[in-house]
Amino acid sequence: MILNDQVALITGASRGIGRATALKLAQAGAKVVVNYARQAVAAEEVVTAIKNEGGKAIAAGADVSDYNAVKELVQKTLDEFGRLDILVNNAGITRDSLTMRLKQEDWAAVIQTNLTGVFNCCQAVLKPMFKQRQGRIINLTSVVGLRGNAGQINYASAKAGVIGLTKSLAKEVASRGILVNAIAPGFIATDMTADLNEKVKEEWDKHIPLKRPGEPEEVADVVLFLASSASKYMTGQVLVVDGGLTLNL
Ligand code: NAP
Repeated sequence: MILNDQVALITGASRGIGRATALKLAQAGAKVVVNYARQAVAAEEVVTAIKNEGGKAIAAGADVSDYNAVKELVQKTLDEFGRLDILVNNAGITRDSLTMRLKQEDWAAVIQTNLTGVFNCCQAVLKPMFKQRQGRIINLTSVVGLRGNAGQINYASAKAGVIGLTKSLAKEVASRGILVNAIAPGFIATDMTADLNEKVKEEWDKHIPLKRPGEPEEVADVVLFLASSASKYMTGQVLVVDGGLTLNL
């Protein structure tokens, strides 16, 4: 299998795109750390699904916005599996509001989780990846970080920040054999988008040339590509996975 003997840490893997990624990388042979923030039962269910297919995985709770918790998470990965080859920075939240009404705490929470959380995880994995002289870091950004979105100034700012982070870190660590890339999904069917009202969803679908939301597995396929040797000459890139949505924005 293409990720045999490799260890992957996936943040926010209890649900949605992170869950699909955990299953996909495990099917490709990776040992997987399924991180979560609150939903321990859901994370354990992902671990069980991986084990039922003959894979290896553990669940590990940690809030990515808490630097010390992230350091412990990386240490736990190393203690359990002895190395760390792939980091998928997937954990994310939304606290949507028009700018005029956005609360300070909702600005701060989204920046702290979606941008500082990515920085925390990247910084914490560099040492083991430097030692191994290889590593893949894959950051989940969003088409909203490329194009902006009314009512999501906090989310769009964090996701645009992740693109700058990805490109800067890619330049810093290329000489150490570490590749850093980002994926910008469009409208994917997960809990994050489940609460949008039907009118908004219909409006989005209208703008998507493929005429449907994406499935978490379709993003996980691209994570697998970026984690595999098939992408070994790529770094600092943002791959858009949106059914063509950005063509029409
Ligand atoms: P989701 O279904 O809402 O799942 C979010 C995941 O992140 C959960 O596993 C959650 O853990 C975890 N999480 C939240 N805050 C965390 C924290 N502070 N520390 C650790 N884990 C935390 O989200 P999704 O739709 O799969 O999105 C995954 C990523 O793709 C996010 O970065 C999102 O911004 C990005 N994205 C999504 C879409 C979309 O349309 N869905 C589009 C573009 C980009 P618990 O279960 O424990 O709460």
